This record gives sequence, C-alpha cells and structure tokens, in this order.
Amino acid sequence: MTISTDTLHPDIRGVFLKDLEEDFRGIGEKAFRARQVFDWIYKKGATGFDAMTNLSPELRAKLKAKYSLAPPQVAAEHHSVDGTKKFLFSMTDREKVETVIIPSKTRATVCVSTQAGCKFGCKFCASGIGGWTRNLTAAEILTEILYAKAKSNLHPLSHIVFMGTGEPLDNYDNLMRAIRLINAPEGLGIAARRITVSTCGVIPKILQMATEGLQIELAISLHGYNDESRKVLMPVNKKYPMSDLIPACREYIKATKRQITFEYILIKDVTCSPEAVRELSLLFKGMICKMNLIPYNPVSEFDHKTPSREEMNDFVESLERAGIHATIRTPRGRDVSAACGQLRHEHQNAN
Ligand code: SAH
Repeated sequence: MTISTDTLHPDIRGVFLKDLEEDFRGIGEKAFRARQVFDWIYKKGATGFDAMTNLSPELRAKLKAKYSLAPPQVAAEHHSVDGTKKFLFSMTDREKVETVIIPSKTRATVCVSTQAGCKFGCKFCASGIGGWTRNLTAAEILTEILYAKAKSNLHPLSHIVFMGTGEPLDNYDNLMRAIRLINAPEGLGIAARRITVSTCGVIPKILQMATEGLQIELAISLHGYNDESRKVLMPVNKKYPMSDLIPACREYIKATKRQITFEYILIKDVTCSPEAVRELSLLFKGMICKMNLIPYNPVSEFDHKTPSREEMNDFVESLERAGIHATIRTPRGRDVSAACGQLRHEHQNAN
C-alpha cells in the first residue's frame, strides 16, 4: 500500500478530528473546514486533496504542504468464486499487506492486517513464516478499510475483523487510534460491537483493553486445551501461558461485561480429542463465552491435516454435551489463499 508518495508528511488518515481542528485554527482556517476534510475522506472516499472541491485551492495547498493523502497501490487482487475478494497492497517500503472482503447476502466484513509479518510464529499460520518486519500505522490500517469500503458498494461494509496478518495487540497504540477513527461518527461511524479484535493472548494488552471503555468484540486464539497442547502450536504460550490467560479473560469479562469468543483450530488427531473436550469443559466452567471452531486451512509448510466433516461434527456435539456452545466457521475464499498471511507469503516467495 503506498500510503504516501511524500513520506515527509504524516498521512492525514491517522489524525483525530479535534487535532485537525486545532491545526486549522493554527493556520487561520475555520474549524468546520476540518469536518469537511473528514467528510471527504471517510464518507466520500477521497484519496487526494484535489478531490475536495468545496475547499479553496489555497487550503488544499496548505493541506498538501503538511499532510499526505494518496490512494493505495494494489499489487494483486483475487476474487473467489464465493464472492470473497483479497487485495495485496504494496507499501512505500515495498512491504506487502493483505486485506480481505468477505460479503454476506446484504453486507460485508473486512479482514484487516495490523502488521507486516508476525512475530508469534504459530505452527499452523502462514503469517509468521517469514517473520515480522514492522507495525502498520493507524493511517495504513484505515487505508485498508477505506479501500475495502470503496470496493464493497454492492454489500455495504458493516463489520471489521482484525484477523489479517499480524498480532493486533502487539501494535496496540496504532490499533486503538484506528479503532477510534473507525468508530467515530465523523470517521467511518462503525459501531464498536461490529469491530472484532483477535489476539494470540497478549495478556497485559487484554487487561489494558478492558479499561478503554470500548464495546468492541474480543476473540482469543486458544487452539489448545491446556498448556501442554497449546505450547506445541503456539510459542506465545511460553510467555503468556493459558493458566494465566484464562484468568485474564475472566477479569476482562468482569470488567467489560462482554462475552469473549474463543477461536479453536480443528486439526486432525491434534486438537479434537475426547481429552480436549474434557479439559475445555473444565476451563470454561461458569464463563460467559462461545467457541468458534476454525477448520485448519492447509499451509504447505506445515504437516497438519483438516479433520473430516464427520469428525468435526462429532467434536461439536461432544462440546455441546459438555455444555460448551461452539460453531464451526465456514471457510471462505480458499481458492484465493484467503487464510491468514497466505497471499502475502506466496507473493514474497515468488519475488
Ligand atoms: N494474531 C491474531 C490474528 C490472527 S488471524 C490472533 O492470533 O488471533 C485470525 C485467526 O486465524 C486466528 O485464530 C489464527 O490462529 C487463525 N489461523 C491462522 N492460520 C490458520 C490456518 N492455517 N487455519 C485455520 N486458522 C488459522
């Protein structure tokens, strides 16, 4: 994604309205002009100052001298037979970032990346294979979403999931800035309840998020039923073990009065055993939560197998019998490598 052709200037997409208003007062412009700029960016999808025809040429020149606003550069675009669209953006430093639009009958969800690469190296995920390069700025995150919004006019963009490449809570400040601008009425105006942050379990940041006063949805990538089983798949479990993660989740629920979703990968002979059901039912005792089961999406670097439909259904039934509400997430866009980090990884290998 080329966020700016002029990297000296900060991208205006990461700026809060009150700061832009302040700025406008400082340069002798009326504060309401800042709202007009927001309107152009967030409501009308402008990707350049020259489009802002109700601003004087002088003001546009002042804006250009201080900020940048450029359309993203799309390096690849794939459309799935199921309607899922995947975009690979090329940034000024040539890093690649992927974004996925997942339409339903009447609306669309965008799956957003928060980092170029990932540090956490989960043993089933394509995002971590090439390591981590850098955090995305709030402006870059917003640009992914604004582009998706412009591309989903048939299915208006209503939901945002931070489930693309990277660990959102490892880029906390930029994530929060982006979320506040997504949420703000003068920004994208998308309700917090329609924004989901998925994390591999960065405990201090989960606890910090509980104090933000935002009604966002939290999803935890659990993928194991105890510390032993989780640490095999998720190295992060050494630093933030499940035995600390679950109490932190209970604290989060208590503080926010919100339900948590636990994501749980279904890998044949690894994660869906009777032992897993027993352990999970003990783990979730008395907790307001639900489980989202994700069939393993094959990545060639790993040896795992996806269970059969029957095995997956049996697992759901055993969970239900043990009192755990679980649903299987339908995989989308498999024909366009829509699993986490797959397209980016394939592209980097090819270059
Ligand atoms: N770093 C965040 C966001 C990751 S992507 C997190 O860990 O939650 C969103 C979900 O897709 C995570 O639950 C992740 O573990 C899962 N995932 C990654 N690769 C997968 C694969 N090959 N098959 C199925 N799910 C996968």
